[in-house]
Amino acid sequence: MQIINPATEEVIQDIAEDSPEAILKKFQSLKEGQPSWAAVPLKKRITCIERFYALLDEEKDTLSKTLTMEVGKPLQQSYNELNGARKRIEYFIKNSDRWLADEWITEEDATREKIVYEPLGIIANISAWNYPYLVGVNVFIPALIGGNGVMYKPSEYATLTGLHIQRLLYQAGIPEDVFQIVIGKGMAGQALLELPLNGYFFTGSYRTGRYIAEHTASKLVPVQLELGGKDPLYVMDDVEDIDSVAEAALEGAVYNNGQSCCAVERIYVHENVYDRFIDTFVSKAKKLAIGNPLDKATEIGPLSRKEQIDFLMQQVDDAKENGGKLLLGGGPLQQSGYFFPPTVVVNANHKMKLMTEESFGPVIGIQKVKDDQEAVQLMKDTPYGLTAAVYSKDFKRAEDVMKQMDTGTVYWNCCDRVSAGLPWSGRKSSGLGATLSYMGIRAFVQPKAYHLRG
Ligand code: NDP
Repeated sequence: MQIINPATEEVIQDIAEDSPEAILKKFQSLKEGQPSWAAVPLKKRITCIERFYALLDEEKDTLSKTLTMEVGKPLQQSYNELNGARKRIEYFIKNSDRWLADEWITEEDATREKIVYEPLGIIANISAWNYPYLVGVNVFIPALIGGNGVMYKPSEYATLTGLHIQRLLYQAGIPEDVFQIVIGKGMAGQALLELPLNGYFFTGSYRTGRYIAEHTASKLVPVQLELGGKDPLYVMDDVEDIDSVAEAALEGAVYNNGQSCCAVERIYVHENVYDRFIDTFVSKAKKLAIGNPLDKATEIGPLSRKEQIDFLMQQVDDAKENGGKLLLGGGPLQQSGYFFPPTVVVNANHKMKLMTEESFGPVIGIQKVKDDQEAVQLMKDTPYGLTAAVYSKDFKRAEDVMKQMDTGTVYWNCCDRVSAGLPWSGRKSSGLGATLSYMGIRAFVQPKAYHLRG
C-alpha cells in the first residue's frame, strides 16, 4: 500500500497491508490479553491514558507534520486537532471514574441491588481519515478505559498517524495484547466484520456504515455509526454583525478544506440580508491562503483524496445546469497536488446535488429564503441529521427553528463545533448511537444487574 502526499503526489512510504491471517492472529492475541486488562484497576488503566495524553504533547511537532503530510491538512490545523484530541482525553480522564463506578440502586431493602459496568470485550474501531486523532480518541480511549481490547483500523489515508497512535499507546503502558492496529484498505476493515468481535464502532460514510450495520446485524452486538452530514446554516434578518456571521460561516464551510462531518454544507440567508451576506462572504473567501500545507500561514491545503476532485466538479457542473451562479473557484488548480480552491455558488436550490448530497469539500451553495418557515422546510429537506445552525440575535426565534430540526446537535450563533461533555450523535443517515459525554463512556461497557440477599 502506498502512502501518498496529497500536496505533492509523491509517495511518502510503502507499507505492507495486513493479510486476513495476520488480522486473525492479532484478534487471537487480544482474546488472550483482554481479560487481564479488564482486571487491572480502573485507576491504573486511566494512568496509562494520562501518559498517552502527555506523549501527544511531547511529540506534537512530529505528529502534526506526519498528519499534514498524509492528509494535506494545514499544519496549524494539525496542531489544533492534537490539542482538541487532548481536551477530549482530559474529559475521559476526569469523568470515567464517575460513570463506570458500581451503582447502588438500593442498599436498605431485603434485596440489595446494584449495577456493575463490565467491558464489552474486543471491539473494532473503524475510523475515518479526516480527523484521525479526534474520531479515534472518541472510541479507543473510553474503550480502553472501560477494559476492552481494541482492533483499531485507521483509514488507509491516515495509516502513518495510526501507527504513531499505536506506538504512543504502547509507550504509555497499554499492553500489545490489548490494542492492535489493522493496516490496509477497505478489505482489512471487511476482515474485521468476519471476526466474532463484541462491538463495532465506525466513523465514515453512510454507505460503508450501512454496509457494516447490515453485515454485523446477526451477531447481536453493539454497532455505533458516526456518519456524514449535509449540515445547514441559516442567517436570520436580525443579525447585527454580518461580518462576524460571514466569517464564522466561511470557517465552518472550509476548515479542513470542508472535509469535516459537521462542516457547514449549505447556507440559507434571509432575503433582507442576502446581498450583504454574499458580498462579505465572498470577499473573505477570496483572501484565504491556499498552498503548501506545511507552511503555517496556509489556510487551505489540498484535498486528501484525488477522487474527490471529480466528485466536486460534478456537483459544481450540476449546480450551474440548475441555475446556480458561480462567484468563486469552480475547479482544481492546474498544478501538482489535489488543490481545489474555495468555491461559492449562489442562487442555489434543492434541485442541485450541491444542496442535497454531502460535498465533503470546500464547495458551498447559498440560497435566499423569504422567512423562517421556508428556511426550516429547506433545512429539514435532507436524509441526514447531524447538525444545524441558526444565527440571530433573538434566542426565542432561533430556538423555534432549533426545536424543529431532526439532528443530533443544534447551534445558536456558532457552528461546526464538538464538545467532549456533550453527546456527539447523528440521526437518520448521519448515524446511530453517541460518542463523547457520559454516553460515550457508557457505550463501551455493558451493565450487569446484581440482586443480593443475605
Ligand atoms: P469511508 O466510509 O470510505 O471509510 C471509513 C472507514 O471504513 C475507513 O477506515 C475505510 O477503510 C473503512 N472501510 C471501507 N470499506 C469497508 C468495509 N467493507 N468494511 C469495513 N470497513 C471498511 O469514509 P471516509 O474515510 O472517506 O470518511 C469520510 C466520511 O466520514 C464522511 O461521510 C464524513 O462525513 C464521515 N465522518 C463522520 C464523522 C462523525 O462524527 N459523524 C466524523 C468524521 C467523518 P479505507 O479508508 O482504508 O478504505
